[in-house]
Amino acid sequence: MAEILKIVVGPLEVNCYIVFDKNTKEGVVIDPGGDAEEIKAALKDNGVITKYIIDTHGHFDHVGANGLLKDALGCPVAIHQEDEPLLEYAHDQAIMYGLKTPRQPKPDMLLKDGEDISFGRLKMRVIHTPGHTRDMPLHEGAEGRIYGRHALCRLCRQDRLRGRLDKGPDGFVKKEATDSRR
Ligand SMILES: [Zn+2]
Repeated sequence: MAEILKIVVGPLEVNCYIVFDKNTKEGVVIDPGGDAEEIKAALKDNGVITKYIIDTHGHFDHVGANGLLKDALGCPVAIHQEDEPLLEYAHDQAIMYGLKTPRQPKPDMLLKDGEDISFGRLKMRVIHTPGHTRDMPLHEGAEGRIYGRHALCRLCRQDRLRGRLDKGPDGFVKKEATDSRR
């Protein structure tokens, strides 16, 4: 059974998600755009054992707390292989917006389309949906929800995903589509 927490982080108010297995407490942090202390507090309050930090893409507002969390939690940072250069550029990109974000560590895992990320008894699948950035993977998992809100309007035009995508009351998108490759 998955537990999903949403924290709004950073100056651009990005949704950071903590998804964890209620039984084993193993979980992931998705898009830690900033406010590392707040994310750490939420992890601690819920007893989450963080297995991975996952960036849906490399824009600074989604990755700002990667480094601080990685240092604090000792877990790997994962991003799609085609967005690694953006992650490297995140610090400079923030400056262009008149904002600050720390330089980020190199990712420990480069994700590929179709790859599964497992934690506890849960599994999330990487879905490569380029558009907003070169890679823009979405992460499907935890009761069919898809993470990566930036890409939603583009996602609907992706050939690979057919069907309908509906936004749930909590801002998640429920996938009511089938992957045409399967
Ligand atoms: Zn973005």
